[in-house]
Parts: sequence; structure tokens; C-alpha cells
Amino acid sequence: MLRGPWIRQTWLAAIAGAIVGAAAVATSAPEIAPFAGREALPIVDVHGHLDAAMSADRLIELMDESGVRQMVLMPRTYTGRHADGLGSDEQAARYARAHPGRFLPFVAGQRDVLDDRDRWVHPDRVADGLLREMDAELRTHEFYGIGELIIRHYGAEGERHLRERDIPIDAPLMRRLADLAARHGVPLLIHAEGEPAVVAEMRTLLQQQPGTRVIWAHNCGRSSAAIIRDMLTAYPNLWCDLGGMLNAPFAPYGRYWPRQTPWMFLIEDGTGQLLPEMQALYEAFPTRFFLGTDPAFTPALATYDHRIARFRQLLSDLTPETARRLAHENADEMFSRRGN
Ligand SMILES: [Zn+2]
Repeated sequence: MLRGPWIRQTWLAAIAGAIVGAAAVATSAPEIAPFAGREALPIVDVHGHLDAAMSADRLIELMDESGVRQMVLMPRTYTGRHADGLGSDEQAARYARAHPGRFLPFVAGQRDVLDDRDRWVHPDRVADGLLREMDAELRTHEFYGIGELIIRHYGAEGERHLRERDIPIDAPLMRRLADLAARHGVPLLIHAEGEPAVVAEMRTLLQQQPGTRVIWAHNCGRSSAAIIRDMLTAYPNLWCDLGGMLNAPFAPYGRYWPRQTPWMFLIEDGTGQLLPEMQALYEAFPTRFFLGTDPAFTPALATYDHRIARFRQLLSDLTPETARRLAHENADEMFSRRGN
């Protein structure tokens, strides 16, 4: 099987004998390899969200158009912050019942009561109640994970609904959530920008909770390939999703958005080609990554097909085996292993 990027080889073939400058090649968007195309490769979108305004029919239509077999639904249940908020766990479960095999509902991590830093450090009766409620939901076997837990999040200037958050990972409430997830055999999906202190606390969590599977969103907090490599080697209970990690105007997490930090790393070059160190990382750990579009707000669905097409371009830079792993096989394994 081809080890090198399929697309570079086909480009070379395509330009052989033609007068095409190197600059023109470098700025052209790469094509999608046959093995990564819509007909050949079904995708499980592991980083989907659910707002009240997202209808099941619209989601199914977008998935069918772009060759997405299944989508994780992480409800956003915030009140009073954005007109499109107020999704619910019940809504996610209802969508899954109405369309068997198409949706993977998560118990929401994005909720007002988890926005309070003190509650994570000193869990109160509200936290006790939430844990009981989540436990009851997970007992129904209708939910496949808990998330997205917004732990270290950069706020966007001037956008009230995109607030800055700085919650410790190494905190009592996180440990209780990790216990709950382990008991029900579901993963925790965590958003935490990979600042040095965050990486250190993530290590503690993964080490102290070896029975809890953690999906660290956005290529493990937009960490460097070296840090991710080190973490995946040390902790078999860690996975990374590539939620929205596209260096394109339609998917901000793959850029330096909303601000650049020294510990923030991209995965692609802005034309749909993986950066060499990330390509090597995915080939080295093919079973530890998922794809995800991260349409956090309803308007983002307008670019859903662009996001999936861009992921298919990135998958074209991998071997067909690794592309299949990231596209759906890893998700199939993760979500078929519900232990209860
Ligand atoms: Zn996120």
C-alpha cells in the first residue's frame, strides 16, 4: 500500500509534461483520493453539537449529502446566551430513536451549572443532583458519552456566547464525572486548550482514572505533535478528535482562533494538506484519532459539506488503512464497546 501521500504522487503524474510552476501546485487545493471519496469512505462525525434550531431532517440531509453515516450529538443547553442554544439531552435521544443508527447522543457537558469554577473545585448539592441525573440518563443506554466539557476555553472578543473559561481538570467534580463515565463504559469528551498547566493536569487525570476513556477535543487541545505522541504513548485511555481542525475560514479551530498562543499547533497548511508532523503522528497512532466537524452553532451547518470535503482531502494524505481508521473504524470501536 502507498505509504506516501497519494495526492502528491498524482499531482506529479498530472503535471508531468505540462508547464506548471511550482507555486501554482503549492496553492492549488488538493483533490480527494478515490479511497477517501464520498462513495468509498463513510464517516462518523464524532464532534457534532445540537441546538434547539437544528432539525433531525436537516442533519440527516447534510449527512447523506456528504457521506456521513453517523453523528455524535452533544447538546448545548445554555440559557440566555445565544438564540440557537437550548438543545437538550432529550432532544438528542429523540433524534436517535427517530433515525436508528444515525445519531450518537451524548449527555450534555455544555450546561449553565458546569460554568461555575467553584462547583468543580467544591462540588455542591447542584453537582450531586447533576451527577444523579446523568447517571439516570446513562442507565437508559441511549447515550454514548458525556460532553463537551468546556474546561479551558478561549473567549472571542465581542461575542458574549463565546466566553473565556478556566476550570481545573484536576478537580473533584472531574474525578466524579470520570468515575461515572467509567462505570457506564462511555467516554468523556473534553475541550481544553493545551496550555502547559492543562497538559500536566490531563496527565494526572488519565493516570488516576485508567478506566475512563477520554476524548481530548481539537487534536488534543491543539497540542504539538510531540506532546500528543508522548501522551498517547503514556496513556492508553486517551484519544483525540480533530473537531473543526481545518485551516479554513469555515472552521476556526484549525487556525489561530480566537487568539494565538505558543502551545497552539495546526494540523493542515491551509490548502487541505496535512502538515508532515501531523501526518506522521496519525500514521504512528492510527487507532487514536476521530474526525469531527464541530458545527457549534446552527449557522455553522451551512458549511457542513465543506468541512467534510476538507476532511476527505486531509484523509487523502494518509494510507487508505489509516484513513478508514480516522473516518469511522475508531468510532465504531469506541461506541460499540458500551460496557453496561
Ligand atoms: Zn470544543
